[in-house]
Amino acid sequence: MNLSDRVTAITASPTLSMNALAKEMQSQGIDVINLGVGEPDFQTPENIAEAAIAAIKAEKTSFYTPSSGLLALKQAVVDRIYARYQARIGTDNVTITTGAKLSLYVLMQTLLNPGDVVVTAAPEWVSYVEQVKLAGGKLLEVHSKNDALKLTVPDLMNVSEPIKAVIINSPTNPTGQVYSREEIQHILDWGSKNDVFIILDEIYGQLVYNGVTFTSGLQLADINKTNMIIVDGVSKAYAMTGWRIGWTIAQPKIIQAMNKLLGHLTSNPTAAAQYAAIEALNGDQATVETMRQAFEERLNKTFDALNCVPGLHVDVKPQGAFYLFPKVDAEALLAVGVANTTELSTKILQEAHVAVPAGEGFGMPGYFRLSYAKDQATLDEAINRLSDFFKKYM
Ligand code: PLP
Repeated sequence: MNLSDRVTAITASPTLSMNALAKEMQSQGIDVINLGVGEPDFQTPENIAEAAIAAIKAEKTSFYTPSSGLLALKQAVVDRIYARYQARIGTDNVTITTGAKLSLYVLMQTLLNPGDVVVTAAPEWVSYVEQVKLAGGKLLEVHSKNDALKLTVPDLMNVSEPIKAVIINSPTNPTGQVYSREEIQHILDWGSKNDVFIILDEIYGQLVYNGVTFTSGLQLADINKTNMIIVDGVSKAYAMTGWRIGWTIAQPKIIQAMNKLLGHLTSNPTAAAQYAAIEALNGDQATVETMRQAFEERLNKTFDALNCVPGLHVDVKPQGAFYLFPKVDAEALLAVGVANTTELSTKILQEAHVAVPAGEGFGMPGYFRLSYAKDQATLDEAINRLSDFFKKYM
């Protein structure tokens, strides 16, 4: 069968593939602990789910909504941005998409011409590389020299090819590092001076821990006077991964171009999910803080425990998101008898029954990622299994 070069050239999402494999093993009765997928283990808060049910019962969800989303949801984004960051944007700066993932996909289609270069820091979220590729662009994964692996302006100045766009993901998936106010400011200034789009993926912005402050680009620059673009959504902070609501905030010209494309792609994000997202943003925010505190506790316990597993270490403690990205010692790989971390994560799944995607999918071989968005007892058991696995070989 002759499928397109475009689809043949892309790799399936390694985190979703591992998730599928873990679920298949579970369906065969194997007790797999799945730390592979990036989603909160909490149920969507009740007020949010009830808002969707109420919208359905009130017959508000039978028809297409505007393809860029309900005006009331855009207004809820505008109001929440003001409440969070005291930044003023208008509804014409916002488009609603079927998850932040689609925002990023449509953005790449909107910004890139064939051959255009996009830069991000390695390790990075698995979908950036394929989404850039699908738009005909090229993703340069910069291996920054600092311990936190954050992209810096000197890194950008060292790139020898013309850069069209930079993606900064703070807090970062998979390292959990958070860019400081100054670091974001420097990159935004560099972007303005060099006419480069700066895409800030702020999907984990509400999930920062142990007193660390998150800085949004919206606190530092006027969206209508810069080439900064913000991507965010309700998936992570509101435990709404299944609802698929995200958004892009940018200059109206970019938003209008994205909307042209969205009109041919999804027609609109699911209406009931949009009503749920309105409640998420306008309603009581206490559940966000409750979940944040739970993640913080789990991070603190799991970080310490993971660093006691032979052969593994996390050098810089994560400050946000809900992932740990341990480095695997070369001796540990040798002792286990595997050539790389892709083989290692397969062996861990088969023998220890813990699903942890390998660093290769994140542009950083020699590591693997685990999500601590699970209850503490499950995390403790997973760390015990990892510990027993490595002890068996070392
Ligand atoms: N950006 C990053 C860094 C992510 O980790 C994810 C999800 O895993 C997304 C964007 C997409 O989120 P969603 O499409 O669920 O809104």
